[in-house]
Amino acid sequence: MPAQLDLPFLTSAFEPATPSIDFVRMRRARKYILRVRPDGRVRVTVPRGGSRAEAQRFLERHAAWLEEERARVRASYVTPVWTAGATMWLRGDPVIIRIEQSGGRPFARYGDRSVAIPSDAVDLRAYIQRDLRQLAREELGARLRQLAAELGLTVSGLTIRNQQSRWGSCSRTGKIALNFRLMQMPHFVSDYVLIHELMHLKQQNHSIRFWRLVESACPGFRAAEDWLRRHGRGLL
Ligand SMILES: [Zn+2]
Repeated sequence: MPAQLDLPFLTSAFEPATPSIDFVRMRRARKYILRVRPDGRVRVTVPRGGSRAEAQRFLERHAAWLEEERARVRASYVTPVWTAGATMWLRGDPVIIRIEQSGGRPFARYGDRSVAIPSDAVDLRAYIQRDLRQLAREELGARLRQLAAELGLTVSGLTIRNQQSRWGSCSRTGKIALNFRLMQMPHFVSDYVLIHELMHLKQQNHSIRFWRLVESACPGFRAAEDWLRRHGRGLL
């Protein structure tokens, strides 16, 4: 058993040049279907009565399409650059990053936030992320305490982290760690992550019992997981 329970990102890193290909038999499928998943892996659906050899030929016939589709998926996957004029997420809304002068000093503004930057700064990511982290300490901290009180649970500690592969975790001693990027998600999604971790105070596993607890406290959790699957990578 791991010492710490994580809520990992729901997609893994984008696959390199040669994608892995999953052949999946679907009795209900009527034809071969080719799909590039968000992480770049390729899935070939084999219909009822179909064969692996025929699926392979289908794949080869659509090699050009596949290459284009992988390029398209990859382009929507790359880490966005946070410069003036770029769009980023804040509390689930797209906001434009702008540079403004105030008292002769430059500030990066995004949504209702404003952060001082050096006058020669172009890539604003480091400054904005530091601000998001501060915001997370305030807002996520307050929200976690509120949810814990409503659910009758006690959190023994909270840290805000810059995790590269998970949204949150809960230690066996009741300490919760949250990714500052939760500040960029809609409330129903960040609430789900908080509730997910809080429920690990009751169930230190991902058993059916655990998911029942999550569902009773957060009936919309599947929509939240779906949001993370679709948009989570774009927050990195
Ligand atoms: Zn978990």
